[in-house]
Amino acid sequence: MQTILSATQLTALSKQAHRFGKRVGFVPTMGALHQGHLSLVRAARTQCDVVVVSIFVNPTQFGPNEDFTRYPRTLDADSAMLAAEKTDYLFFPSVEEIYPQGAATWVEVETLSGKLDGVSRPGHFRGVTTVVAKLFNIVQPDAAYFGQKDAAQAANIRKMVRDLKFDVEIVVCPIVREADWLAMSSRNVYLQGEQRKQALVLSRALQRVQELTAGGEKSSDKLIAAGKEVMAAEPAVKLDYFVIVNPETLEPVADVCQGVLVAVAAYVGITRLIDNVVLPTQ
Ligand code: AMP
Repeated sequence: MQTILSATQLTALSKQAHRFGKRVGFVPTMGALHQGHLSLVRAARTQCDVVVVSIFVNPTQFGPNEDFTRYPRTLDADSAMLAAEKTDYLFFPSVEEIYPQGAATWVEVETLSGKLDGVSRPGHFRGVTTVVAKLFNIVQPDAAYFGQKDAAQAANIRKMVRDLKFDVEIVVCPIVREADWLAMSSRNVYLQGEQRKQALVLSRALQRVQELTAGGEKSSDKLIAAGKEVMAAEPAVKLDYFVIVNPETLEPVADVCQGVLVAVAAYVGITRLIDNVVLPTQ
């Protein structure tokens, strides 16, 4: 595995791969890698000839009072994991490489950026779509791999790709969970003592909704109320949102049907966690 710091150099390598008829797969990350990230790398490895993974803690997707400076940075461990997965190129740019002095151009999906996490994290999705657009231009991938864990992010990216006609296939991979069903996240390392157990309430609330829908309940209002009731039973966890929405438009749906997104966000102490399930065919 080669670690590349320069955008120009990475673009040249991608162009060279394309000249040889190779398919380039790309996995954008912020590092502090876990099995969720590695599942994306494995999917890319299976489906592509050349695998590029980026590690870039993107300052523009963090709010002023969020965890940008303390976000876990574990480059040595991450590099070892990526090399073991046969990653070809690790792209590890500086902030200046991605946002040169005076950069003033933003990419924002106006209909989606203010929904779900965009409510309590204003500017977050604008930061995400801007950095992903830049990374797509640098890496020029044939396919890019994202996690269902960040369902609203996936919706913003799919829409950006359609609207701006990026020539890249977006592949969204299932959520990887711990044995006790906590969704893996780089932020789980923040959870102290009891908080690790308290955090399980998110997946428990989603499972409750799944049980009720399996039993025939179709009303979103009733399902949301049931999910919120489970959340309320863990008073140490502060609910941000519990919604049932269309996974493309992120608009609320009144009656659940196949493919609707049930999504939750909550604070465990100061750590904000998200999780979701997509309801299957009845
Ligand atoms: P991040 O480093 O948090 O920006 O995540 C990079 C990519 O990994 C995003 O596409 C995430 O959705 C994905 N990802 C994070 N956690 C998981 C997980 N538990 N399962 C699957 N994908 C994940």
